[in-house]
Amino acid sequence: MGYRNKTYEQALEIKRQSAKEHRAEFDKTLEEIYSKTPRLSVIDNELSKNGAAAAIKAINGDIEGLELLRDKSRKLSNEKQKILTAAGIGDFKPLCPVCNDEGFVKGKLCDCVKLIAKELVISELNEKLPLNTSRFNNFSLSYYPTDEDENGISPKKRMAAIFDFCHTYAKNFTPKSESLLFLGGAGLGKTHLSLAIGSLVIEKGYGVIYGSAGNLLGKIEKEYFSRNEPEFSDAVLECDLLIIDDLGTEFATQFSNSALYNIINTRLLADKPTLINTNLSFSELEERYTARISSRLAGGYTIKKFLGNDIRILKATGK
Ligand SMILES: [Zn+2]
Repeated sequence: MGYRNKTYEQALEIKRQSAKEHRAEFDKTLEEIYSKTPRLSVIDNELSKNGAAAAIKAINGDIEGLELLRDKSRKLSNEKQKILTAAGIGDFKPLCPVCNDEGFVKGKLCDCVKLIAKELVISELNEKLPLNTSRFNNFSLSYYPTDEDENGISPKKRMAAIFDFCHTYAKNFTPKSESLLFLGGAGLGKTHLSLAIGSLVIEKGYGVIYGSAGNLLGKIEKEYFSRNEPEFSDAVLECDLLIIDDLGTEFATQFSNSALYNIINTRLLADKPTLINTNLSFSELEERYTARISSRLAGGYTIKKFLGNDIRILKATGK
């Protein structure tokens, strides 16, 4: 069966557990009300006695007696309902009215379980985010050149503006924020700022998926051919923020290119933000990917060009 994979079983287990706790909580509240209101047990007793008596009257064909009993039971039930309502407890309500907390609807996994599975995938991925290494507060502008171009703009000035842009973007993030494309050579801080955004957005409580292009697309391909439920692919399409690191370094196949297009296109249509960074220039992107991918990026993404020299080399040589 398709759902028989680790994440779904884990999600089902979580669902069962929370349904059990929810039921236990209801029962406990009910028990407390019963212990404070002895009348309730009396009513229950009467109701079950009436039920038994009504069965006998029905067998004997005593319609009049049956009606009388039914009337009595109705009054008792109303009285009970009034006491319970006054005590602030209504009928038991399952957490999910769709599946009645069974986890399945007509033999298929209920959406409430799928949602838990998605959250599991996302939190597993988020745990792998190196949260403490690449933050806004340890991003240094000191390595960027200060020599100005003809417009009086130095790489350092440009990067200071990009830094502010990224910080504001992360602070004001909503699941409807714009999509971003970071361009620029290696070692200019694209990954650092992508991670800093991802970390802050996670801290705001949103679901973020972060991965290198090779990793993400490889996982999607593996899942596709495993015939498991596409839980990872779904999470990539539906998470609040998707960060694709180092686009262009993956081993590109027809499959990976069409998966990439699907991700970019689906998320744009759904107004869900994606952050992509790449060492490729825009014309290299156009060359490597189909025109439909590059035109989506050009039309739907806010593009930021990183400038400067390779920081990693500068740091290593101490210049
Ligand atoms: Zn459900």
